[in-house]
Amino acid sequence: MNRRKILKTAALATTAVGLAACKPKENPTATANKSKARITWKMVTAWPKNFPGLGTGAQFMADAINAMSGGRLTVEVYGSGELVPAFEVFDAVSAGTAQIGHSAAYYWKGKVPEAQFFGAVPFGMNANEMNAWLYHGGGLALWEKTYAPFGLKPLPAGQSGVQMGGWFNKQINSKEDIKGLVMRMPGMGGEILARAGGTPQALPGAELFTALQTGTIDATEWVGPYNDLAFGLYQAAQFYYYPGWHEPTACLEAMINQEAFDALPDDLQSIVELAAMAANQNMLAEFTANNQRALETLQTEHQVKIRQFPAEVLAEFKSYADEVLSELGQQSTLATEIYNSYKSFAKQTRNWLQISDLAYLQAR
Ligand code: CA
Repeated sequence: MNRRKILKTAALATTAVGLAACKPKENPTATANKSKARITWKMVTAWPKNFPGLGTGAQFMADAINAMSGGRLTVEVYGSGELVPAFEVFDAVSAGTAQIGHSAAYYWKGKVPEAQFFGAVPFGMNANEMNAWLYHGGGLALWEKTYAPFGLKPLPAGQSGVQMGGWFNKQINSKEDIKGLVMRMPGMGGEILARAGGTPQALPGAELFTALQTGTIDATEWVGPYNDLAFGLYQAAQFYYYPGWHEPTACLEAMINQEAFDALPDDLQSIVELAAMAANQNMLAEFTANNQRALETLQTEHQVKIRQFPAEVLAEFKSYADEVLSELGQQSTLATEIYNSYKSFAKQTRNWLQISDLAYLQAR
């Protein structure tokens, strides 16, 4: 969303009635009927309903739309499996079975490899940088271009912040310990794990606990303390590793069926866009506030062993990450365009963050 669009959106949200009255219309009756119509949308999500951070983030966006529209647009939220399974959200919204999906873009890598740039990039940009790129660096326009062939309009709708490395039933002391490791790890992180000798699995969230507890997998990444505590993952594994090199943030998405979006009057379109923007910021705040509380609970009440990945393990992952990202950037003309935009923006923000955030964190 560029600055002009944001201003237009903000103006519409606050003075929708006034603007509508001033704007010349070719068919005032039809427009009036469109504006008064009461619409119900279904939102399908890749998360269990009201799951901390992710499910609550989807619900936040739905509630914001319901409230801001004064009931003219009602969004009903469905947890994963209620209407469609987690990994069918993309197809369901593309087909119009539901009008909104809330999920993560890297889930669709088999169908749309380029989508991975908008979900999480291993050793890539953090939440703040990602938002800067999406809203003010051309990232969102590239995302729209990526989803347009599927009749979908993407909107950033949540940031997890830096995640944890995951739950392990054995210690990782050297890069040799990665070899043969069966770990739930979606997206590019999974590909990197495979190159380092591990075996990635892409299980939906609802299946993680049992898979880890029964030993079907040796380890799993999920999100961070807030989420993982609620999920009870500490009951299935004893070592909790950091940092989440594979997800310096997960950017969650709201994908909107383009036809359904186009049928909305201007003010409701703006409300949907602003609700996603609010949900995007609110999720990061929710995670940041709750992660540190949950981390303390995990350590003091559940005696979880917190471990940092050895430097040689991180260096190993990073070398494969550069390789995997570069290969992804060569998969199509669009992938190259996104890769170049992402890399050049990330380089600039890295320079800035080194003398702003990093220097400050070290100094305080
Ligand atoms: Ca994750």
